[in-house]
This record gives sequence, C-alpha cells and structure tokens, in this order.
Amino acid sequence: WSSEELTRHFLERIKRLDGNYNSFITVTEEVAMAQAKAADARLGQGDTNPLCGVPIAHKDIFCTKGIRTSCGSKMLDNFIAPYDATVVENYQAAGAVMLGKTNMDEFAMGSSNETSFYGPVKNPWNVNCVPGGSSGGSAAAVAARLAPAATATDTGGSIRQPAALCGLTGLKPTYGRVSRWGMIAFASSLDQAGPLTRTAEDAALMMNAMASFDAKDSTNIDRDVPDYRANLNDSLEGLTLGVPKEYFGEGLDAGTQQAVEAAIKQYQAMGAKVKEISLPHSALAVPAYYVIAPAECSANLSRFDGVRYGYRCENPTDLSDLYKRSRGEAFGEEVQRRILIGTYCLSAGYYDAYYRKAQKVRRLIKQDFVEAFKEVDLVVGPTSPSPAFAFGAKGADPIAMYLEDIYTIATNLAGLPGMSIPCGLVDSKPVGLQLIGNYFEEARMLNAAHKFQ
Ligand code: GLN
Repeated sequence: WSSEELTRHFLERIKRLDGNYNSFITVTEEVAMAQAKAADARLGQGDTNPLCGVPIAHKDIFCTKGIRTSCGSKMLDNFIAPYDATVVENYQAAGAVMLGKTNMDEFAMGSSNETSFYGPVKNPWNVNCVPGGSSGGSAAAVAARLAPAATATDTGGSIRQPAALCGLTGLKPTYGRVSRWGMIAFASSLDQAGPLTRTAEDAALMMNAMASFDAKDSTNIDRDVPDYRANLNDSLEGLTLGVPKEYFGEGLDAGTQQAVEAAIKQYQAMGAKVKEISLPHSALAVPAYYVIAPAECSANLSRFDGVRYGYRCENPTDLSDLYKRSRGEAFGEEVQRRILIGTYCLSAGYYDAYYRKAQKVRRLIKQDFVEAFKEVDLVVGPTSPSPAFAFGAKGADPIAMYLEDIYTIATNLAGLPGMSIPCGLVDSKPVGLQLIGNYFEEARMLNAAHKFQ
C-alpha cells in the first residue's frame, strides 16, 4: 500500500466509526493527505525509516502548528498552536502522517476520560465502559483500529492505565528520555510522553522516533537513543522479576489478580526467575502525588488568564473580574479542584506540612525502587486494580477515581519507566500487566513485553 492509500483507509474508518467512540477531537484530513503524498515521494527515493508513510494520531496535549490544540479544555477550544511540539516534529522528521488529535481528560487530569470538554470517550471493547484516562482518546483510537499507533502522556498512569483498559501496549519512558517541549504542562516533574500501540514491537518503533535530546527542555537528558528494536528477541533466561507484595493487597479485583499471576507463571516458563519484593512506601504514593501534582498544576495553569491566549469571558468589568470569570467559566470541575488543592498546599503556613512532606515521601518511594533494582531486573504487577468500569461509576467520588492509579503513580514519582501489556480478559474486558524497569531500561522492558506477546 502507498501511504496515500493507507492514510485514506484510516481516515475513512475514522469517519465511519468514530461516532461510536469519540476518540478524536480534530481530524486533520488535509494535512494527513499532504503528508502522505510527501511520504510516498520520500519512499520512492528510497527512504527506509519504518515509520515513513505510517499514519498516527497525536494526543491533543501536543502543540501542532496551525492546528487546534485544546488539551481537552474549553480554555483552549480556540487555541491554534504557533509551533510544533518536539515529539510532533520528531514524527514529522521520520515521515509519519498525522491523522488528527485525540480526545483526553481536561489538561490530562483524570483516569476515565469523563472530564473532557469534548465529551467522554467510549471503550471499543465495551461502549458502556470508560477507556481509561487521561489518554483515553489515543487508546480508543488504536484499540478500534482507527490509527495503528498514537502518542500519549503519563503523569501518574495516563498511558499505562488506558493501555490496560483497552487491551494495548503502553510505554511511559524514563523521565527525561522524551522532550516535553510543546507538550502542555500538567505536573512538569512527572509528565512524560510515550506511545500507545498494539504490540511491543510497534512501541519500539515509536520510541525510536519519539526519544531524542532536546535542549529546549531543560529536564531532557543528553544520552544516545538506542535502537529499541535491537533486543526484542533476547532470551529471558536468567531475568529476575520482582513481585511487590504491596501490589496484591486490598482493592485488587480477583480476576485481575488471577490474570496477572498467570502471566508471571508464563514468564517463569520462559526462564525468568521470580522473587517477592517489598516496596514499603507504596501506600504513600497516591497521597504524595495528590499534593505534588496539584501543586505543580496550580503553577502551570496560572498562565491561562484570559489575557494572552485561550478563553476570555464576555464584557469583563475589570482585570480581577476578567481573571475570575475566564478561569471560572473555562476550567472544568476537576481542574478547578486540582488548582484549589495545589494553591492550598503551596500557601505560606501549609507548605511545610504538605508540599515539603510530600517531597520527602517522594524520595522514600524512589529509594524503595533503588533498593529493589539491586536484586531484580524488572518489577511486575497489575497496571490497574480492575478492568474498565462503567461511565459514572467513579466520577462522583474523586478518591475512588484517584485510586485507579495506585500501581502506576509511584513510577512517575521515582522517574522510572513503566509499561502495560495485555495479559488476558476478565468478563470480556482486557487486563494489563505492568512492567517497571530501572532508569533507561526501556529496551529490557520491551524485550520482556515482546517475548510475552
Ligand atoms: N489519573 C491521574 C490524574 O488524574 C494521572 C493522570 C495522568 O497521568 N495524566 O492525575
């Protein structure tokens, strides 16, 4: 197939089927066809990049020049980005074709895609259920075969949890591996971009293009990008997997536990050794995250003031009224809740009690993993406590929703890479197995994921 044929095929599928899922906010048909034509020309001249001509979708958190970049919010409904995110540029350089921008929880805050200004995304496995979040649009698009692969971001689980709930492979790289330039900031010390794909092999291909050194992101690390495909078929003989006992406690659905345990047995059959480990501060990850992430978001989102860009209220009476009404009218409930929590935690008098304490807990959580990786090569466990749940099931109770990320959040706090791969079905719904690697050990996770698939 030529890239033009392939791109037309996916654009037609989106047109015909996305009414059922709502996975795209913007479909960039004209851009896609022009890029496909250019990719065909490159292929004709002997371009060998495996992504050249391949259509992909971008989460609507990545700035795309000349194209609306909404971040799932009314605040940016009218925002046309003046530049491309580095991630977007990297895929363009590889010759990939952009099909459009995918739906997401507002400003990436959520685990169900119910907080998007553009309406909820439906899980292609069961349209009465959520696809997970915040990268639910990217996950649903790939799961419904509306795109072969998509970009996503993960601050506390937003790549891995939707991957688990939609039966996909999702990889959150080591903090600093992928540039955050042009990726709308939620919690800058936790945010990291990564791919959502069907297989580990596709994830490796996507990582080859996505990872780069970028001086425009001061937390990006100047380190060679390996060929992530190189070790996919390595033997797992002698690989040591650590199973944290804290990840199999209260709150874990029985069917999910069974599927995860069966997957661990399968790894043993492939020659891996399994060791029970302890990550003693696991229970503190969610509370620490819900201080640190809101604190950072309250600072990051202060730029949306109704003055420079984004939503502006009608007929403000003075500057204060402009700020209050623009932000009050355009931010949804969850975003406002986070800004309030974050502002509170950072205010004088509370800073030491909450923010500083959370930072100390963050260090303890990181230290748990540093100790664990002295003994094991990968940590394995469930990605999320249960399979996809029904719309509205957790939306009314923020705490229930926050617990969706109980197994994924520690990885972000520690800056480690994490991955979710499909490991079975419970009640016809996919279950995810999480693999956590040591810093910059993405290739090892991909190897373990590929051999499993
Ligand atoms: N669900 C978590 C939150 O709402 C994580 C979101 C994310 O990773 N972007 O903050």
